[in-house]
Amino acid sequence: TATSDKGSIEAALNEAYTKYKDLKEGKNADYIPELAKVPSEQFAIVIVTTDGQVFSKGDIDALFSIQSISKVITLARNIEDHGAQAIQDKIGVDPTGEKFNSAVIVENKKGKEINPLVNAGAIASTSMIKGKDYNEKWNTIMQVHNDFAGRQLAVNDPVYKSEAATNQHNQALASLMNSFERMYFDPPQSVDIYTKQCAINVNTKDLAQMAATFANGGTNPVTKKKVVSPQTVAHTLPVMATCGLYDDSGIWFYNVGLPAKSGVGGGIIAVVPGQYGIAAFSPRLDEAGNSVRAQKAITDIVNKLNLNPYLVQ
Ligand code: GLU
Repeated sequence: TATSDKGSIEAALNEAYTKYKDLKEGKNADYIPELAKVPSEQFAIVIVTTDGQVFSKGDIDALFSIQSISKVITLARNIEDHGAQAIQDKIGVDPTGEKFNSAVIVENKKGKEINPLVNAGAIASTSMIKGKDYNEKWNTIMQVHNDFAGRQLAVNDPVYKSEAATNQHNQALASLMNSFERMYFDPPQSVDIYTKQCAINVNTKDLAQMAATFANGGTNPVTKKKVVSPQTVAHTLPVMATCGLYDDSGIWFYNVGLPAKSGVGGGIIAVVPGQYGIAAFSPRLDEAGNSVRAQKAITDIVNKLNLNPYLVQ
């Protein structure tokens, strides 16, 4: 349960929002043409507590594509359905130290010991989702995203189409993974499901509720639905901690001490186990592909509310 009172949470949100509201550092992702068009000024921060309270600030109605944050939701579903060992064996759980869409790691490691939060491992993870065909797999993915968010989400069609038309590199990753027998369903269809999953539209509260579901041992604290087991959460969060912010995962963990996941749509979630889900959204990204203002806002809130579990005073 929450350790901070309402007043301090609100104050921390307001302070971070005001401090970074006018910061213009970084730029929208543009390798997916549609993402370059998202209004760069948008900025929102939301905290959902494990007792279901919601605190929010900024452009909380703004919808944007979930992108890579979907990778943790798909991963959690896979761990739940196949067991933790299967993910370790069939995909891997080690940080790569390379860019999120690196093909070099696949070649160097013969498709092994990749993690489900970089593209090659994430596409393999999507291919592992239970279901006999494209539609069954897609429905499972949509359902688990809905359950984590606590409402019915929808795909952003222009983003999906825009990425589907320009994702030749991801198609190549899937083929390369397939050449090492590390794909578990038809590669082109898996890439298509993956692309659609990345295009699911969310607002910042949806993300915070997803994070809060992880913080709450896998039960959505608002809807009370049990989405995944506590054991699944305990295996998902360490992958976020070690691989959640692309090539800057180490820097993030060094400074903040919390499992987190970013997406090139500009969202970031962070999980304070037992207490809070925190999410922030702002489209401008740094060199590593992480939202500049979302990282700063979450870091300030964590410091202000004393949420780094490694800081024992
Ligand atoms: N759909 C994006 C891609 O595959 C996700 C990237 C991300 O958010 O890291 O390139």
